[in-house]
Amino acid sequence: MSPTGRPGRGDGRSIGEVIAMDAFMSAAIDEARKGLSEGGIPIGSVLVIDGKIVGRGHNRRVQKQSAILHAEMDALENAGRLTAKDYQRSVLYSTLSPCDMCSGTALLYKIPRIVIGENQTFRGPEDYVRSRGVELTILNDPECIRLMREFIAARPELWNEDIGV
Ligand SMILES: [Zn+2]
Repeated sequence: MSPTGRPGRGDGRSIGEVIAMDAFMSAAIDEARKGLSEGGIPIGSVLVIDGKIVGRGHNRRVQKQSAILHAEMDALENAGRLTAKDYQRSVLYSTLSPCDMCSGTALLYKIPRIVIGENQTFRGPEDYVRSRGVELTILNDPECIRLMREFIAARPELWNEDIGV
């Protein structure tokens, strides 16, 4: 049992690392809730460098009539223009398994690690991303799963549009 009370959460990491990981995922969940309150899809993301959040965002496809503003893209855009070295020591947090577009962006910038809230309601190209050397940590957080299950049940057409179905 990890210090967070969730079995298997620690992944062999120190208590400090696990607590920090939970705090960053909590920030991503706050973003997801913000998106939901705006009438959007409840997916949130933060980009972390050296233990600090440098960008946060949530899915704003509906809010901005955007083709590309998934949560991860929004967080990366809000982090602004960074150097290759910055990306190469960053960690991307997302409440949901990143899709082809967001995974591709993480690969482009050589982000070495992605922490994923859940991959039960949707699973992006995780095996491929791993095969490119990216470390994936999948938390399967009950709150992330609940947010998506409730949204998909309520607005299936919006969700399908988001993932190109
Ligand atoms: Zn995406």
